[in-house]
Amino acid sequence: MKKLLEVNNLSISFHTYGGEVQAVRDVNFDLHEGETLAIVGESGSGKSVTVQSIMRLLSMPPGEFKSGSILMNGEDIVHKTEKEMENIRGQEMGMIFQDPMTSLNPTMKVGRQITEGLIKHQNMSKEEAKERGLELLRLVGIPNPERRINQYPHEYSGGMRQRAVIAIALSCDPKILIADEPTTALDVTIQAQILELLRDIQSKRKTGIVLITHDLGVVANAADRVAVMYGGKIVETGTVDEIFYQPKHPYTWGLLGSMPKVDDAKGDLQSIPGSPPDLKDPPKGCPFAARCPHAMKVCDQHMPDYIESSSTQKTACWLLDERAPKVAPPENIFAGGDK
Ligand code: SF4
Repeated sequence: MKKLLEVNNLSISFHTYGGEVQAVRDVNFDLHEGETLAIVGESGSGKSVTVQSIMRLLSMPPGEFKSGSILMNGEDIVHKTEKEMENIRGQEMGMIFQDPMTSLNPTMKVGRQITEGLIKHQNMSKEEAKERGLELLRLVGIPNPERRINQYPHEYSGGMRQRAVIAIALSCDPKILIADEPTTALDVTIQAQILELLRDIQSKRKTGIVLITHDLGVVANAADRVAVMYGGKIVETGTVDEIFYQPKHPYTWGLLGSMPKVDDAKGDLQSIPGSPPDLKDPPKGCPFAARCPHAMKVCDQHMPDYIESSSTQKTACWLLDERAPKVAPPENIFAGGDK
């Protein structure tokens, strides 16, 4: 499959009154046609900053690209002008935001929000854009599109609003869709419908999807590959099966262990004790060291290199070093990983 996106050694900081926040540190990943890559991690891990930097939606300053490249069709977009990015956004990449209520303009009819990009970027006439708008509303499963195209967002239900956001993101037929927590604001039934819709669109158009989520249930349902982020770094990547059934990083173990389990009679929710590192002064060694029950002396001092356990899985953890003690993942983490 063709490579659509390649992120190399990406580091992004924010300059604040309190100092420089190193939000994303040396991140690498790629995305192929027809593939869904899920980036998971808790709040503040750097996942949203990573994808917003791909769309070039971050304000610079206070943000700053410290290093690295973002290759789209082999071309680095880090230093593109805003005008060049306007064409790339929409045509090459579409973005689905978390909350449809804030990403839709409440004062503009949904139809106009869909057709705007078509008229601007695809040089369509108003009539052609309207036809395409109706087609897109049909594609995302909005009933009675002829009536709905003339309605305002507040006249749509929550699920329909998210479908409208997806229609806008798809309007210029982008090759890459970036979905930042696309189902968080929705109830579980609608969530399943939206994930099914994304899968359906992907199989028809071979779209590459980068899915940001903290919900491992969504990952299990939607992703092909997973990148686990912690403290601004990717600490483990692998196929969805590798991450759920052969996770190697203690933070991935913690995430899997914190999933609610249907067969847990007591119904206790597990959590990972402690809090994420302060990225104004990130740890010199492993970012998870302060919370890791298996931390060793070396973990505080040196960031581990990635160790490959297959052609698709690599993990940054000293436990994979041949000199480290053998530690097995906790038994209880697998019960919650039903796929
Ligand atoms: Fe834990 Fe050390 Fe591995 Fe970090 S490198 S996850 S602190 S064992």
